[in-house]
Amino acid sequence: MNCYDLTKMTWKEVEESLQTVELAIIPVGAHEQHGPHMAESCDAVLAEKMAIKLGEKLFPYAIVTPVVNMGVSEHHMHFPGTIALQPATLIAVLKDMVSSLKQHGIKKFLFLNSHGGNQSTLNLAAMMITKELDVEVYYAKTTASAKESIGKYIKSSLFGHSCEREVSEALYLAPELVRTGLLEKGDIREDGRWKQLRPGKAVQGFYFYEEMTQNGCIGDGRQGTREIGEQIVEEALTNLTEELSVLLDLKTELLY
Ligand SMILES: [Zn+2]
Repeated sequence: MNCYDLTKMTWKEVEESLQTVELAIIPVGAHEQHGPHMAESCDAVLAEKMAIKLGEKLFPYAIVTPVVNMGVSEHHMHFPGTIALQPATLIAVLKDMVSSLKQHGIKKFLFLNSHGGNQSTLNLAAMMITKELDVEVYYAKTTASAKESIGKYIKSSLFGHSCEREVSEALYLAPELVRTGLLEKGDIREDGRWKQLRPGKAVQGFYFYEEMTQNGCIGDGRQGTREIGEQIVEEALTNLTEELSVLLDLKTELLY
């Protein structure tokens, strides 16, 4: 065994693992449209794959839980198939997962999130669950820390959903998610209030995704490659491993 993957373990194996496990990694994704060229489970699958890879890096100190495979996706609801949780529902699910695992002796948790729309809810969840359950809660966006590789390879000014970054990550981690024959550039609307509401503006607000892009994509998925995905994913895993080792005071010489 090179990763404690809770979904594949017996209770005896879990009991044994708890002698060294300090951290539960909870993958958090979404079920939402990803344009004409990626399956709707994209974020859930990528979060799970990243969690397993991180669990390998942090073995035997981390255990990976089942993925939360739906998230806060209200902004994608006008595309067929999207399923959106209310933020309060996501927080409640996470709280119950943390509460259960705390009963088994785990006190530190990482929400490993692949979906931008979940981030502000996870910030609140971290605050609420820390306070209510007296545990340590961290959260991270799966590959956001891979700044060097993203700066080098991702050329679109607007990216982050079904774009060359996400297509690349999927080609590396779960190629079955990608319809390689159907890859499209984001069909971005030239006008509309979405431009006034983007992060970085003085005033922000909610808008639906179709206000920004007609095919549900941004960036240019056609530029995605498995090699770019590998660079981004591996850089992010190194950063996550290093920071978590410090936060958890792990014996890092055992990790490499
Ligand atoms: Zn996605």
